[in-house]
Amino acid sequence: MHYDVIVLGLGGMGSAAAHQLAERGLRVLGLEQFEPAHDRGSSHGDSRVIRQNYLEGAFYVPLVQRAYELWRRLERASGRDLLTVTGGLMIGPPRSTTVAGSLESARAHDLDHDVLYPRQVHSRFPTFRLRDDEVALYEPHAGYVVPEQAIVAQLELARRADAELLFTQPVRSWDADGGHIVVRTDHDRFSARHLVVCAGAWTSRVLERLALPLAVERQVMHWLTPPDRAPFRAGRHPVYLWEYTAGDFLYGFPALPGQRTIKTAFFRRANPADPDALERTVTDAERLEITEILTRLIPRAGSHDHARACMYTMTPDHHFVIGSHPQLPRVTLAAGFSGHGFKFAPVVGEVLADLVTGGGTAHDITAFDPARFGEVSG
Ligand SMILES: Cc1cc2nc3c(=O)[nH]c(=O)nc-3n(C[C@H](O)[C@H](O)[C@H](O)COP(=O)(O)OP(=O)(O)OC[C@H]3O[C@@H](n4cnc5c(N)ncnc54)[C@H](O)[C@@H]3O)c2cc1C
Repeated sequence: MHYDVIVLGLGGMGSAAAHQLAERGLRVLGLEQFEPAHDRGSSHGDSRVIRQNYLEGAFYVPLVQRAYELWRRLERASGRDLLTVTGGLMIGPPRSTTVAGSLESARAHDLDHDVLYPRQVHSRFPTFRLRDDEVALYEPHAGYVVPEQAIVAQLELARRADAELLFTQPVRSWDADGGHIVVRTDHDRFSARHLVVCAGAWTSRVLERLALPLAVERQVMHWLTPPDRAPFRAGRHPVYLWEYTAGDFLYGFPALPGQRTIKTAFFRRANPADPDALERTVTDAERLEITEILTRLIPRAGSHDHARACMYTMTPDHHFVIGSHPQLPRVTLAAGFSGHGFKFAPVVGEVLADLVTGGGTAHDITAFDPARFGEVSG
C-alpha cells in the first residue's frame, strides 16, 4: 500500500502530526513501536505545564498561544478535558531565569502577569514558603495539559479522518528511494511520498546518519501525599516553576481531580540515559532529596508516595528541532524538545502538516532549524 505520508512514532508529537495530516485529507500511516499513550517515552505522568510568559524565549509565545487555541479545539472535537487553567507562579530571585526570562516574554508580548512579593504569594497561595530575596511572577493563563488523554484524543481524531495507525510495530529501517520513502518493520514494507520522524528519545537511532547533537536524559517525577489536600486542589493551587538556587529548578502541579497526591519534579537534572534501557527504579536517595527540598519550599507537601522515570531529549541550545532533513526534503523531523515540548504538541502537528503539504509554514520556526548545529553527514 502506498501512502502520502508515514509518521514514525505516535507519542505527543507524532499523534498530533498524524491527526493534522489526516484532517488535511492525506493518506496517513502511523507506526508506533509500543501501545497507544504508553509510558516508556517522554509523554506520560498525568500532567504537563503550559504557560505563556515563556522564559525560554519570547519567540515561543505566538506558538504557545496558537497551541492554546488548538488544545481547546481538540477538546471540543474529542469531548475530552485536556487543558486546565490554574494560574502559574514562576519563582526565584528577581534576576533568576524563571523570573527575568518570563518577564521578558511578558513585556515583549504584553501578556497578563503580576509580580508578587513573598508576603503576597503567601496570602494568596499559602502552601509556598518564599525566601525574602525571592519574588514570583504570577501568570493567570498557565495550567496543565493531560498528556495521555491528549495523545488518545489525537489518535482517535486521526483515525476518524481515515489515518491508518499501527501499534507494536517498531520501524527497523527506512530509505529514500527515488521519489519515495520506503519504511521497514519486522513484517512489512511500506512506501510513501513523505516521512515525518517524531521518534522522541529514539530520534538519533532513526536518523543515525544525521548525527544530531541530541542528549537523552532520565528525569524522575515524584508524587507526594499532603496531609491536607484542600489548599492543593486545582482551582485553588497554581502550577509553579521555582529556581530555588541558581541553576536548580523544581516545578509542580496542584492535586488533579480525583487524586490525593501532588506531582513535583526537578527540571533539567542532567542524567544520561539509553532509551532502550531506561533505569525505571527510583532510589531512596532520589526520594529523599526531593522530599527534603520540599520541606523547605512547600512544607505541607507531605510524604513521598511514588515516583516514575521519563526522558528528556536535549539539544545544546535547549530549543526544538523542527524542519526538513537537511539532505532529504521529503523527510521532516520534530525532535529535541528539551523537556518543554508537550504544551506545543498540537501546534507542532500543525507546523509538520504545513511543511509536508506546503513545503513551508507561516509559524516562525527559524530557531528550530535542524541544520543549525553545523556540519552533518548524509
Ligand atoms: C518528566 C517530564 C516532565 C515534562 N514536563 C513538561 C512540561 O511540564 N511541559 C511541557 O511542555 N513539556 C514537558 N515535558 C516534555 C514533553 O513531555 C516532551 O517534549 C514531549 O512529550 C515529547 O514528545 P515526543 O513525541 O517527541 O516523544 P514521545 O512522546 O516519547 O514519542 C516518541 C514516540 O516514538 C516512538 N518510536 C521511537 N522510535 C520508534 C521506531 N523505531 N519505530 C516506531 N516507533 C518509534 C516511541 O515509542 C514514542 O512513542 C516533560 C517531559 C518529561 C519526561
